[in-house]
Amino acid sequence: MSAALGEAPDDGPPLGRELGVVTALPTAGGEVRFDSNPDPHHHLLCTRCGRLEDVPLESLPVAPRADVEESFQIEGFRVVAEGLCGSCR
Ligand SMILES: [Zn+2]
Repeated sequence: MSAALGEAPDDGPPLGRELGVVTALPTAGGEVRFDSNPDPHHHLLCTRCGRLEDVPLESLPVAPRADVEESFQIEGFRVVAEGLCGSCR
């Protein structure tokens, strides 16, 4: 019997990216969206029409504080900015 079945490599990338599949993206309202963009990016979520837009990381610069990184090894994170899209404003 193979013990390796289903085992993830210890130092591999996040599972969703590794498999090239959609990533579940929970939103503040408890809803879960699915994200098929494998590149690192953040999101803009319209709270009126529900539109979810991808934006490059540079558009929403976010950096963890040093004390967080000391206590937790961050391998990736996503930011969802909530507000009103161009059509709903
Ligand atoms: Zn909208």
